[in-house]
Amino acid sequence: MILQSLFEHNLCIRCTGRVFANVDTGMTNLDRGRSLLFAYKSLYGNAREVDKCWLCNNIFDQFDKYYGMVNDRTAEYEYDSFLIGSKFDKDLLISEETLQNDYGSKGESIKKEFNREFGKYFALRSGKDHSKDPDIAIHINTIYDNVELVIKSLYVYGKYIKKRRDIPQTRWIHGSGESIESIIGDELIKMTTSENYHLHGAGREDVDVMMLGNGREFVIEAVNPKIRNIDLDKFKEAVNSSGKDIFISDLAFCTKSTVKEIKESKYDKVYFAEIESKNSIDEQRFREAAGKLVGIEISQRTPIRVIGNRSDIIRKKEIKYINIDSIGYNTAIIKVCAESGTYIKELVNGDEGRTVPSLSSMYGDKLYIKSLDVININRGD
Ligand SMILES: [Zn+2]
Repeated sequence: MILQSLFEHNLCIRCTGRVFANVDTGMTNLDRGRSLLFAYKSLYGNAREVDKCWLCNNIFDQFDKYYGMVNDRTAEYEYDSFLIGSKFDKDLLISEETLQNDYGSKGESIKKEFNREFGKYFALRSGKDHSKDPDIAIHINTIYDNVELVIKSLYVYGKYIKKRRDIPQTRWIHGSGESIESIIGDELIKMTTSENYHLHGAGREDVDVMMLGNGREFVIEAVNPKIRNIDLDKFKEAVNSSGKDIFISDLAFCTKSTVKEIKESKYDKVYFAEIESKNSIDEQRFREAAGKLVGIEISQRTPIRVIGNRSDIIRKKEIKYINIDSIGYNTAIIKVCAESGTYIKELVNGDEGRTVPSLSSMYGDKLYIKSLDVININRGD
């Protein structure tokens, strides 16, 4: 009786088999349907043939059409891997589920079978790899018969050196203006034919601070790239020869997870600082003040100059060493090594009591940073 009722639903062989998709793995739904049909014929004679199946609309015979549609849509994109997704009519999916429930809920949805079977077909015919983290996610809308694509960003890791004191790391949200991001990103856009780019830095230096030494880690992201297999040496050369005083190195393709890794990394940084005072600097007092800051924990409340952008909290930071290079009449040149995230300008000027202690408070007179450069990030590379 159950077998008889199963063949009264006017389903094609494949959709009939799919009602029991989870019963025997290693069989296709078509195989299952044929077995059921054989059992039916053996018991009751011939079953009615279904030319046009109300459930699948014979979509499994139309892979060639969908292959053409996807190929047209992806024609201008370079990609190695893909993932198939699809959208089916909601009422249709509910009807199928209701029907399968009547037979013990042992089936799978048409959507699942379509994604899998068309995915296999697409891989075989295109030579591209099926992947859960694909270069292109292909969404086939079977209701309107159209294809949408989600293109994975292309991520390139590197280190940058900035030999100028007049540009920010990233672009302002509105408006243009040059930045490290735009200098690197504009070259990346040319090579990848992408729509946009984002620079993700492992921290950032101030606009007027140079980033020297072993450079700062970054990931540059190309959004909706048409070309993925770019020559990283050429990319590096294009940036480094642009005359913009930004130099990149150690480029490598990476994934989105690298963005998180470099953003979470914390390394001591070494700075070269020119300090000045309105009054003459007492060398001995200055040396003592610097010595007292080393090895202790200082408290830094978020500096006044950045408070609009960051939450107002107190950070405890350790100063690893301060080397005094030279002391002039009212200037001093020092090298400071401090924990990641230390505000060096405020370490020197005290930020109106928000950084305690500071070089100014230890020294007993106001001291300012005249110029500051990062000269090493102690990554151990
Ligand atoms: Zn069908």
